[in-house]
Amino acid sequence: MFDFNLKNELDRTSGSQSDDLGPPVNWQDSLKSCLRTHSELEDFFETDIPQIDYAVQIPRKLAIKIKRSKKGSPLWNQFLPSFLETQDEIQRAGLADPIGDEVHHQDGQIVHRYHNRLLFLPTKNCAGICRFCFRKNNIENDSKIFDSNFSATLDYLKNHLEVEELIFSGGDPFLLTDERIAYYMTQFSENTLLRHIRFHTRIPTFMPERVTDKLFGILSEFSKKFTKINIVVHINHPDELDHEVVASIKRLKDAGVDVLSQTVLLKGVNDDPLVLKSLIDKLLLAGIRPYYLHHPDRVKGGMHFYMDLEKGRKIFASLRNLVPGWAIPQYIIDIPGGQGKTNAFNPESFESSGRFITKDGKIVKINYQ
Ligand SMILES: *Cc1c(COP(=O)(O)O)cnc(C)c1O
Ligand code: SF4
Repeated sequence: MFDFNLKNELDRTSGSQSDDLGPPVNWQDSLKSCLRTHSELEDFFETDIPQIDYAVQIPRKLAIKIKRSKKGSPLWNQFLPSFLETQDEIQRAGLADPIGDEVHHQDGQIVHRYHNRLLFLPTKNCAGICRFCFRKNNIENDSKIFDSNFSATLDYLKNHLEVEELIFSGGDPFLLTDERIAYYMTQFSENTLLRHIRFHTRIPTFMPERVTDKLFGILSEFSKKFTKINIVVHINHPDELDHEVVASIKRLKDAGVDVLSQTVLLKGVNDDPLVLKSLIDKLLLAGIRPYYLHHPDRVKGGMHFYMDLEKGRKIFASLRNLVPGWAIPQYIIDIPGGQGKTNAFNPESFESSGRFITKDGKIVKINYQ
């Protein structure tokens, strides 16, 4: 019953075409063969592509899906370069380090912003490059995939016993080899008091073939050694979830980990309650729990994806009418300057004005004194 529904849902949006992407490939080959140069892009997409200074990287299998979805589609807008990236001044100025990661950076590729958990950044590379990326002004395409001072990481954890959760982020941690991931997990389980491990990744969308038997084995083994392993997948539009992507996510779940989602609200991609509803419906069918909806960051070169908080709040408010409460993600915003995440819907809630927004967008005033 479950699989039957899911199949219908996947066929409806991606068509049975998603099954003819060619023979299975090794993920390391997929990484090498990504579209990167201007001529590769024009040859592949058979159209004029703007030439800009920001790096481009699109895995070929994803490129096939983008090409089918055509120019100006949500898939196209997320990954193909646009002249709008060079025209921020005309709209509004963006920031080079919009969430202030530099402020909390520690030795050992750690960002420790919250008391009980921290980010571990073992690689700066992703399997592809999103045009709206908050790190787009710091992407080092040619940096080594693995470049870590790991003894400093372990020392930091030994000196900060308040840290209960380590979050692999990056870049994309699943660009590390299976051996490297197994080594880190062994060290964390044997030599630290960490209780939870989390991975932030966009690998299912970029390169579902990365979920190898070996990775499955590592996650299965370590899901028994930590209280919780969560994998938070970055997915913005229902068209990203085709058969192959969903199969890779089911495989992660079969390894005994929980899979959650984070979505960036983006103009021209998903700034529509019905698109978000369809994304959430599909995430639920794939067994993913919606976790975060991020208000877009004010990133230099990505301001054409930006929208006012008022518009974002209106979209978010209308979700309550369209999906069950337990499936509504947290709508959050990262305050520039490294001050962290906060609820984007009602950030002034410590000093309540007494005004609330109903599901229909009406503002009502309630006196709580
Ligand atoms: C987002 C983030 C986390 C994770 O926060 P959760 O609310 O637990 O998802 C941890 N550390 C840093 C620096 C972050 O930016
Ligand atoms: S997956 Fe995240 S970090 Fe990687 S390119 Fe996209 S937005 Fe940037």
